[in-house]
Amino acid sequence: MANIGFVGLGNMGGPMAANLVKAGHDVLGIDLDPVAAQRMVDAGGRQAGSIPELSQNVDIIVTMLPAGRHVRDVYTGETGILKNARTGTLLIDSSTIDVESARFVAQKADLAGMPMIDAPVSGGVGGAEAGTLTFMVGGPDAAFERAKPILENMGKTIVHAGGAGNGQAAKICNNMILGISMIGVSEAFVLAEKLGLDRQKLFDVSSTASGQCWSLTTYCPVPGPVPTSPANRDYTPGFTSAMMAKDLTLAQAAAQSVGAATPLGAEALALYNLFCNSGQGGLDFSGIVKFLRGNDGIEP
Ligand code: NAD
Repeated sequence: MANIGFVGLGNMGGPMAANLVKAGHDVLGIDLDPVAAQRMVDAGGRQAGSIPELSQNVDIIVTMLPAGRHVRDVYTGETGILKNARTGTLLIDSSTIDVESARFVAQKADLAGMPMIDAPVSGGVGGAEAGTLTFMVGGPDAAFERAKPILENMGKTIVHAGGAGNGQAAKICNNMILGISMIGVSEAFVLAEKLGLDRQKLFDVSSTASGQCWSLTTYCPVPGPVPTSPANRDYTPGFTSAMMAKDLTLAQAAAQSVGAATPLGAEALALYNLFCNSGQGGLDFSGIVKFLRGNDGIEP
């Protein structure tokens, strides 16, 4: 059993913290939103009054925050974790943020004598609730080994991807594949519709041929072939288009910072931004098929 601080108890952080409580840990949580903080108390955790108070009273801190600027602020701000936690406190940031911020904060943590890993997740709110998340981890070996049993209370697959920032790198590379492949699969179904090719026939062929991929066989963007995919429930997320746009934005920023050519990633981001700006950011990202179909997304 460990004393764990948890900062950011939102859609993901709330159920992740609840799973730490279930595993028998003493969890001290904090969130700007009192409703989120109360949910944590209802789940059996305790609420901290401030980040300094939380930092001074735990051995491990997990953060699950919206973006890089929140992570920089919570760790390196005047009243932040690095100024207040004890030397040797293990720091785990599970937010999805830019690689540069992840490496910046990890370097500051190292200087403060606190081992840190970046450990973004995939698996969504369902995975957070079920404790089946995948963690992609960047950071030193010793910090990874210390964090692993804690991550196993919240997830099923834990991959050490290398040094600081490599967890974030793995996450955005994977999600760039996903964003691009979902558009590719969606375009194929739209073309099939126009050519009079039945969607189930296209699925039967491509799911066993060279077009096979996760976007087709697990998350098929049209209703029917994969009954569990969001297409069968009017594209209720799942993983929203706004979140896909966020991750593709992070991928483009990272690509620019190292001079990598990612033209399809750039195009995928432009399409998701258009889709979000048309008021569909809350729809599952596989709903991009409606946008590509045109005609208000109405199926022929
Ligand atoms: P969310 O907005 O529901 O939760 C974030 C929480 O952080 C909010 O409750 C907010 O009040 C709190 N917060 C912000 N600043 C704070 C501060 N200074 N101190 C204390 N609390 C603060 O977001 P979420 O869906 O839980 O996502 C969190 C992270 O996980 C994001 O980086 C997101 O990209 C990533 N992620 C989300 C999903 C998903 O399906 N929701 C999947 C994978 C990864």
